[in-house]
Amino acid sequence: MHIRRPFDIVSLFEGFSTGYPVLRPFLAAIGVPVQLLVLLMLPLAASQAQEASQAQEARQAPLLLENARLIIGDGSVQQGAAMLIADGSIVSVGLRANMEVDESVEVIDLNGKTLVPAFIDSHAHLGYEGHRSWGGSNYSRDNLIDHLQRYAYYGFSAVFSAGSDPDALALEVQQAQLRGDFDAARFLFAAGMAPPRQGPNDQFLVHALALEQQTGQKILYGVASAEQATEAVQQIAAKKLSVIKIWVDDRGGSQQKLSQDLYREIAAAATENGIDVYAHQQYASDMPGLIDAGVAGFLHGRIGADLGMEIARQLAQAEAFVVPNMGLGELRREAIGLDPFLQQSLPESVAARLLESDRRSLTPLRSESLESELKTSFAALLDADVDILLGTDAGAVPDHFFGYTGHRELEIFVRLGMTPMQAIVAATSKPAQRLGLNDLGLLRPGYSADFMVLENNPLDDIRNTRSIESVYLNGRAVDRERLAEGFTD
Ligand SMILES: [Zn+2]
Repeated sequence: MHIRRPFDIVSLFEGFSTGYPVLRPFLAAIGVPVQLLVLLMLPLAASQAQEASQAQEARQAPLLLENARLIIGDGSVQQGAAMLIADGSIVSVGLRANMEVDESVEVIDLNGKTLVPAFIDSHAHLGYEGHRSWGGSNYSRDNLIDHLQRYAYYGFSAVFSAGSDPDALALEVQQAQLRGDFDAARFLFAAGMAPPRQGPNDQFLVHALALEQQTGQKILYGVASAEQATEAVQQIAAKKLSVIKIWVDDRGGSQQKLSQDLYREIAAAATENGIDVYAHQQYASDMPGLIDAGVAGFLHGRIGADLGMEIARQLAQAEAFVVPNMGLGELRREAIGLDPFLQQSLPESVAARLLESDRRSLTPLRSESLESELKTSFAALLDADVDILLGTDAGAVPDHFFGYTGHRELEIFVRLGMTPMQAIVAATSKPAQRLGLNDLGLLRPGYSADFMVLENNPLDDIRNTRSIESVYLNGRAVDRERLAEGFTD
């Protein structure tokens, strides 16, 4: 069993918007605005008092969305249902007839459209993609926020950046988000760890190391001995980061692979400090050792012939999650620049780079034997009931874009054997649980009102997750039109 402690910074979020899903409906029933209570609970320093008045200003009128198909996020669906939201939270879900709604409530008839919880990307690398260039020199507060807004545009409520962020700047952006300085998907990140000056893919590594130099901030903790492992974990604990991403990969011989002895030390020290370890591993054959060391999950599924029923059972027994991350390999061979769903968020010149060429084709050939291996391996994970999470590795390489790749990954999940409902669970409640986002991933009373309105039913065809009519985060509609203008500029 792993302690799944919420990210520290996330527990701050929870101070505002979660933390007491049980308490919330009760407070609503007795007419206490939750925000007000939270504000009263906070020590009111001068700056916080100012924030308090701003938060109160930001309170919204209740909104009732009725006549909709509600995909709850737990595998169930309600037809012809309604959802009442107020002050950024879901107040009630179910039949309109059973809801008490006074005249002040704004009502939107959704006419049979679908509500689905906003998605969560459990594996990305924010900050480096600049759309016209890629690298550490693009990493800035503004670029991080741009990436989080791209996620919001595509209907995501949160994203986990896996071990490549300069920590002080990343924390600063989290704090700014908590203060409500900008509206976007929630930003989570981890400390990175590998042998000294090793870790991300070779190209990425050069940029991450240069960015450390440039900012004087920590990104990658280099570990060469048991003592260093313990020390690094303690430093990370002192910074109140609650996830460590380790790389166990020799990158085809160009890097030194983190040894089993060392990752066991890291995992043991992390457990002592209440920190989760997520692994990047090169082969499925590395998984049993990492499971035994106690990692919480795997950021690269390595689905295929060497991941069969035996490893699937070990994963299930240890309750380790798997992010299959199939799109990273696939989408780079596809002429994604032709896809109108991606074009919505790219300048024309960037989309033009990704049209049909000798590297990219409209429908890349997939070898039948490989496809059948992938399906068998994926079926083993599903049969063993392993927690499969949506994750994309977006931003780890140029032109692997934020948000868009998440929708594409769900298409791959379904192609390999998930039902659309299973794919949606993998994008909503499962990652929310694993990342400690206790108020996200479900359309239930007390949860944050983070959801998409879809024109068409994704249970009929998973590609209907693209038919986004609107996105709401914290109960507020994301201004997608304005965002798209900025993205395509
Ligand atoms: Zn990655």
